[in-house]
Amino acid sequence: MATNSKHPETLVLHAGYRSDPATNAVAVPIYQTTSYQFRDTQHASNLFGLAELGNIYTRIMNPTNDVLEQRVAALEGGVAALCLGSGQAASLFAVQNICHAGDNFVASTDLYGGTWNLFANTLKTMGIECRFVDPADPENFRRATDAKTRCYYAETLPNPKLTVFPIGEVARIGRELGIPLIMDNTASPVLCRPIDHGAAIVMHSTTKYIGGHGTSIGGILVDGGNFDWEKHKDRFPMLNTPDPSYHGAVWTQATKPMGPVAYIIKARVTLLRDIGAPMSPFNAFMFIQGLETLPLRMRVHCDNANAVARHLSGHAKIAKVIHPSLMSGEARRRADTYLSRGLGALVGFELKNGVDAGRKFIDNLKMFYHVANIGDARSLAIHPASTTHSQLTPEEQAQTGVTPGYVRLSIGIEHIEDILADLDQALAAV
Ligand code: PLP
Repeated sequence: MATNSKHPETLVLHAGYRSDPATNAVAVPIYQTTSYQFRDTQHASNLFGLAELGNIYTRIMNPTNDVLEQRVAALEGGVAALCLGSGQAASLFAVQNICHAGDNFVASTDLYGGTWNLFANTLKTMGIECRFVDPADPENFRRATDAKTRCYYAETLPNPKLTVFPIGEVARIGRELGIPLIMDNTASPVLCRPIDHGAAIVMHSTTKYIGGHGTSIGGILVDGGNFDWEKHKDRFPMLNTPDPSYHGAVWTQATKPMGPVAYIIKARVTLLRDIGAPMSPFNAFMFIQGLETLPLRMRVHCDNANAVARHLSGHAKIAKVIHPSLMSGEARRRADTYLSRGLGALVGFELKNGVDAGRKFIDNLKMFYHVANIGDARSLAIHPASTTHSQLTPEEQAQTGVTPGYVRLSIGIEHIEDILADLDQALAAV
């Protein structure tokens, strides 16, 4: 470990790497290799048998990816991480690692449209049932739980509703029942550390704020190392009974000498091995660059978003502005509790004249990009009903908070005067 700091500003620059052991390079090198020379046959069989940790093949591990894994694990307060080819792969692996056909899990209704589709349709074809519940009442998670429930899943700051998830409340229910909470923290890196509030696993689409510059698709899973899989043997047979795909390894036993990492090691050496959704080392390098300035960028993103929310609220053409800074009551309490370092940089609003006004607004933006993305350094805008959420039925759209006239903004780090000027001129054209 290259630093003992607890501060995100330091961790993103120093955690997990000091200099390259082969060349002393300060920047993390891109190890663009598929495979690694074994010292001898004993070394090779030790690596395959997990008697020794080391590089085998880049589908499963890579030294560049390893630095990103250590840094994001340190940033999130976890014990280990696993890079994947996309956020979608990370969401799939997060669930599939402990759920098989016949099992179920409980997810918040407030989810990214792609995650919803994966859970409601694709996982269903694999025999895994997702039970969607409204997180307004954390007890809904308990009510949906039965003996076959393997995990809870939610987003910290779900767009488009932007109502912060009750992490501690649901994590506590899960721990009573022996169920780990998996949090998608894509929209709130640095702002929230779900593991500190009792979550067991965190995932990110690194495509967003961690990358920060809209160059690369990637995902990462972080193991909090704080969930006792062995204590709940019946609920987690995939971690507590012999795995025929790995010479009968029992993951909670086989990984003991490495620490509380059964979940993440199993994901790496079985799911990543078999399904093959690795992050490319080049993309890992790009995410390492993004990570270095993440805390700095998040501060400016959040300041700008607060200013945009203030500016838009009360505008004659806008029916409603959605941002945690404008919320009150329980929603505001959750935002203040879980987003203690900033209220996020996503702002939603609804134009009074519905779909047509929404489209016109988007078509008239000059500086904002019209893209299906969030978390870029540039300001972005989209009309979810006709794009990101278009594969959902109108009822499902309504459940996730997408109304016909809803516009989502991902506020960038440009000067605030330029951001407000672009919004004003597009609103004037509506
Ligand atoms: N989770 C959230 C909250 C997202 O916004 C996205 C993408 O928009 C994903 C997961 C999926 O990530 P990716 O696009 O990297 O597959």
